[in-house]
Amino acid sequence: MIVTSFYKYCKIASPEKFRLRHQKYCDALGIKGKVLVGTEGINASVSGTGKQIAAYKKKISSEFKKISFKDTAADSHPFKKMIVRIRPEIVTFGSKVDLRNAARHISPGTLKRWMENENIVLLDARNDYESRIGKFRGAIAPDISTFSEFPKILSKLNEYRGKKIVTYCTGGIRCEKASALLKERGFENVYQLQGGVLNFIQQYPDSHFEGRCFVFDSRLSVPAGKGNKAITTCDVCTINCDRYINCKNEKCDKMFVCCDECQRKLKGACSKKCRNIIPSPHGR
Ligand SMILES: [Zn+2]
Ligand SMILES: [Zn+2]
Repeated sequence: MIVTSFYKYCKIASPEKFRLRHQKYCDALGIKGKVLVGTEGINASVSGTGKQIAAYKKKISSEFKKISFKDTAADSHPFKKMIVRIRPEIVTFGSKVDLRNAARHISPGTLKRWMENENIVLLDARNDYESRIGKFRGAIAPDISTFSEFPKILSKLNEYRGKKIVTYCTGGIRCEKASALLKERGFENVYQLQGGVLNFIQQYPDSHFEGRCFVFDSRLSVPAGKGNKAITTCDVCTINCDRYINCKNEKCDKMFVCCDECQRKLKGACSKKCRNIIPSPHGR
């Protein structure tokens, strides 16, 4: 199974028409995933067989110009169904920014060279629970739980004003807005990583990015290479681990880092209390 994601900021005149057409197309093709559309563009992540995804990419490339797709692997569909939704913003930021101010994109190769030869500031534009399990070595990882909190951290970055700053996120969509805001707030030397972490780790696995890359589907994360060590610990027993699971108690559903041993002992729950609430499969 292949999971592909892409985004495009562009004017979509009638999102509702687009939504209906796109939903119909995806359903007929038999793929699953989540697509957000709005007047500012499209943000999509879908899964299917190699053949299905190839057909989907062809269709998308015929409708939009210069799309770059980020592919990752999955054992099964990481989405339950195919959802196409309309949103005022294709990634919720809340603060007004002019996307024409977005920083210049740099390739993974350029970033790698800069990291190895220059004194740059790497700024993670993702949330704290994402950077917790993986980030570029030495990056500043803000203490935020949603992207709309990003603007409030800028006042803490004054010491980096004169420096070369590179922002990154999972696939690049958040950096378009984050980097534009940085520039509007007077940071001059700002760049953004083209295609985000997913693009980087595909070209340079096991280098500079430590841990795993968080993703917004049921996999919760993807590896950044073969030999990466966990950079965080199990929430239950504190051994090194970087795998997120959701608590089996559906009412709790908390996402937490859990090692194999604790998952077995707690039957997939986040605590003894939650374990005792999970109904047995036989309904007893
Ligand atoms: Zn554990
Ligand atoms: Zn729980």
